[in-house]
Amino acid sequence: LRSRPFLGQVKKQSHLLHMETWAMASVGDLGVRRGFVDSVGNTPLIRLNAASKATGCEIYGKAEFLNPGGSVKDRAALYIVKDAEEKGLLKPGGLIVEGTAGNTGIGLALVGNAKGYKTVIVIPQTQSQEKKDMLRLAGATLVEVPAVPYKNPNNYVKYSGRLAEALAQFDNIANRQAHYETTGPEIWKQTEGKVDGFICAIGTGGTLAGVGKYLKEQNPNVRIGMADPMGAAMYNYYSSGVLQSSGTSISEGIGQGRVTANLESWGVPARDGGAVDFWCQVTDEEALPLIFDLLKQEGFCMGGSTAINIGGAIKLAKELGPGHTIVTILCDLGTRYQSKVFNVDFLKSKGLPYPEWLDPAFKDVS
Ligand code: PMP
Repeated sequence: LRSRPFLGQVKKQSHLLHMETWAMASVGDLGVRRGFVDSVGNTPLIRLNAASKATGCEIYGKAEFLNPGGSVKDRAALYIVKDAEEKGLLKPGGLIVEGTAGNTGIGLALVGNAKGYKTVIVIPQTQSQEKKDMLRLAGATLVEVPAVPYKNPNNYVKYSGRLAEALAQFDNIANRQAHYETTGPEIWKQTEGKVDGFICAIGTGGTLAGVGKYLKEQNPNVRIGMADPMGAAMYNYYSSGVLQSSGTSISEGIGQGRVTANLESWGVPARDGGAVDFWCQVTDEEALPLIFDLLKQEGFCMGGSTAINIGGAIKLAKELGPGHTIVTILCDLGTRYQSKVFNVDFLKSKGLPYPEWLDPAFKDVS
């Protein structure tokens, strides 16, 4: 780093980080973490070797599965709680109510435990049993609702809003602020400002908009990409302005059908003044083999949204050409989806591909 001309710039930013990040470990700090809150963020960047080799690019994954609640959503959970505290919505001993596909709920329940709040989580029934079990283990009260679109009054976001004044992660911009103030600066520092592209899928849009805006501000030439699973409406929205979806995906936590407040102004196409200038669709058929190989050949066991992200990173790499540095998000561990993404019966029922070794009946005789 010392030999690099942009050292001064990085130094100034890391000073800013100290001022701005709320109780998170500072970038580059390898020291002791003082409890849960202090343990969120500052995750490593891991080179994805097969994806890099296949494209001639340097493709890295931000290891968000190493957050203490096990996912990228710990960052948003912390910032949303802090925001509610500052606004006086959350008082000591108070109750956190939120609609979530699971990971934000896990983050909120654990932050709640660390800070003395109780948690009620409204979750679509279709989410993995592992996430529901973790929520109960963390002490959250779980309300399971049918998986219906946002316009339906029984949708999990609407339902939680009726139960109480929910923290509303989808439209609460404290969510993207977490990524603008922490994830984005970490990526910039870890790549020594040499990042050419960043890409991820959209759940709330907090990660894409927050990281996208921060990186574009450092270097307007950084390409910000959006990888959409099938069944989501964002690819069509970015391409033609029409919110329209087709197909389905087994990935969880991603796949948006509307422009959330987190996406507004920062997470919209560059032509509309936002940061996003590349978009692609990634099918489960394309994405799943990437995480099966990642597990078997590189030792990382990742969930379905990470599969879509890596598929997107490969597409962005092909668009940019060899020699570029691309970062994506490793959202959470595959163990959170063992009953689905790594379950042969489930995959067969969906007509999805799986490797021979995943079948419990498979015997390696080599
Ligand atoms: N992956 C997983 C597993 C998630 O739970 C989420 C959030 N729901 C995301 C990706 C997407 O993150 P964001 O909400 O910041 O768009």
